[in-house]
Amino acid sequence: MKLLIILLILLAVMALIAFRYRKQIQTALYVWRMFRQMRQFNKPQAAQPKEKQIDKNEKSSNAPLVRCGGCGKWTNETAMLKLGSKSFYCSANCMEKAVR
Ligand SMILES: [Zn+2]
Repeated sequence: MKLLIILLILLAVMALIAFRYRKQIQTALYVWRMFRQMRQFNKPQAAQPKEKQIDKNEKSSNAPLVRCGGCGKWTNETAMLKLGSKSFYCSANCMEKAVR
């Protein structure tokens, strides 16, 4: 019987806390759901062709942006083809274009 009373009190306390912080809980749930949606949204992109992957890296990484010597597009350094120490190209095509 004692255990039941303790359980009831605990339940009441939890309900009170839930009621008090319902806004915070709602916010936390909302953030959590957004996070899950974002993760689900990112999954299918991994299976896409290479060019799309380059775009994805562009957004997710913090590496500095460099300008493509062929087309002039600003792209993340890690996703670029490097020629020497100063020249970057977004694709082999752009590299060829610049060399020619
Ligand atoms: Zn380019």
